[in-house]
Amino acid sequence: MDKDFWQNKSLQKMSDKEWELLCDGCARCCLLKLEDEDSGELFFTNVACHLLDIVACRCKDYPRRENRVPECLLIRQMKLSEYHWLPATCAYRLLSEGKPLPAWHPLISGDENSVHNAGISVDGFAMSEEHIHTDQLAQHIIEL
Ligand code: SF4
Ligand code: SF4
Repeated sequence: MDKDFWQNKSLQKMSDKEWELLCDGCARCCLLKLEDEDSGELFFTNVACHLLDIVACRCKDYPRRENRVPECLLIRQMKLSEYHWLPATCAYRLLSEGKPLPAWHPLISGDENSVHNAGISVDGFAMSEEHIHTDQLAQHIIEL
C-alpha cells in the first residue's frame, strides 16, 4: 500500500483498507445533530448515539451499524453533496474539500492517540443518548 495513499488517490478509488485507515477515530460523526428546518443549518450536540462506546470512541457494533441505527451515516454510500453532515475535522470531508490531513491525524502523527490528545475526539465530553430525553437535545448543542 502506498504510504501516502490519501494524497495520491481519490476517495472513490481507495480500497476498503485505505478507506478505514482514513477514519481518525474521533467519533464526532456519532454525535446527534439538529437541523434548522428553515436555514438547513446543522448543530452538533454532545449527545452520542446509543451504540457508541464513549470512552473508547468506537461503535459497539460496527459491522451491523446499518441495521442497528438507521440514522447512522454510512459515509462510503453518501454523495459528496451530503458531506456537510460530517464534522469539519472529518478526514473524508477534508479530503473531499481538497484540504490536507491535520497534524493530529493518526496517519500523519503515527499515533492513534493523537486524535484524543489534541482534543478532537469526543472522549471526555460526549454523553450517551440513553441518558437524555430527545426533548432536551437542543440544550446540548455545542461548538465543535
Ligand atoms: S468524523 Fe470522520 S474521521 Fe471522525 S470518526 Fe467519524 S468518519 Fe471517522
Ligand atoms: S451506529 Fe455506530 S457508527 Fe453509527 S452513529 Fe452509532 S455509534 Fe456511530
